[in-house]
Amino acid sequence: MKITFFGPPGSGKGTQAYRVSTRYDLEHLSSGLMFREEISSGSELGQKIKAIVESGHLVDDDIVNIEVFSKIGGVERFLLDGYPRNISQARSLDRYLESHGSFLTGAVFLDVPDEVVQQRLSGRLTCPKCGFVGRQPMFKVNDPCTRCDTPLEERDDDRSGVIVRRLRHYFNLTRHLEDYYSGRLHVIDGVGSVDEVTDRLVKALSTWE
Ligand SMILES: [Zn+2]
Repeated sequence: MKITFFGPPGSGKGTQAYRVSTRYDLEHLSSGLMFREEISSGSELGQKIKAIVESGHLVDDDIVNIEVFSKIGGVERFLLDGYPRNISQARSLDRYLESHGSFLTGAVFLDVPDEVVQQRLSGRLTCPKCGFVGRQPMFKVNDPCTRCDTPLEERDDDRSGVIVRRLRHYFNLTRHLEDYYSGRLHVIDGVGSVDEVTDRLVKALSTWE
């Protein structure tokens, strides 16, 4: 099974992707985490990505494709989280897999209304190492991650002005992926408790096993 998982920022995508990949033994490949690692490495590419992310824009398709393809090569079962973000990346992914004798099983879209997303995004803290997401006031900046003990941080792209721009980008680009993947798409209601949403996902994905 090779799937991509998408939804607006703040849809709970990261948390659900982690749970689903554990349940189905899929390698969880988060593009956000790949970029944060690249940024922490201080490489030239990392500095370039940092400037783009801080301005609230999305990273260039070519850079994203190179980064992602270097990680999925030879992996039989994966869950892509945060990629593709637009039709052009989706086509590149299909071409890449096809040229390696494989194909994408399908896409999962976590559907959460705009108001809910905006409320959820403010006060979010992230583990820079494993991608765990905690919320204020339950967690504070520098509290240890519950998974790996790394101090939690507020991500640059979770500050308020940037949130609005990320949402606009999302609705301009990512929503078209629903059309592109029609025929191999599960749309899952992302409103409800974390467990409820996971149950819906696990049930839907069982049709792809
Ligand atoms: Zn962690």
